[in-house]
Amino acid sequence: MARIYEPLNDEAKAYIQSNPRLKLDNYFFGSVCKNGHNFPGTERSIRREENGSCIHCLRERAEQWRKEKPEEVKESRDRHRRENIDILRLRQRERYANNVLGRKDRAKQAWLKKKEELKTLYEQHPELKQEQLARHRDYYRRNKGRYKKYSKRKILRRLAAITNKQAVS
Ligand SMILES: [Zn+2]
Repeated sequence: MARIYEPLNDEAKAYIQSNPRLKLDNYFFGSVCKNGHNFPGTERSIRREENGSCIHCLRERAEQWRKEKPEEVKESRDRHRRENIDILRLRQRERYANNVLGRKDRAKQAWLKKKEELKTLYEQHPELKQEQLARHRDYYRRNKGRYKKYSKRKILRRLAAITNKQAVS
């Protein structure tokens, strides 16, 4: 039987592109694999350029491997990490730098939302607010040592030092 080698249709392209880790150039439409993974609406399987493997078969095999041999999976992941530590660190740093604003923003939004929810809750149930305050007081009493460095006196002294310095210069 002649080997089928066709370009992907738009749906299959969209499917590949929905996963940012997959490269469109690496896939083509081939004959339906022996496990019958035809792409919806076609008589074709999405296969890998390099070896012709069906993308869904590969995924199933990887899934099975993860389930059956968790130690081997961990070992292989650790080895990969060791061998590629430099590039991985670099990539991580890049991701972090690109994302830092987004992350702060999301954290802030989440906190504001929570604050709003708590406010409504406390308005409806003032006794909960009292309980919360009592819990705070109790926690403070039990952990007094931790808050020494934030004591009012110390903060005032630090402020005075700063304003003195500004006055001198
Ligand atoms: Zn398959």
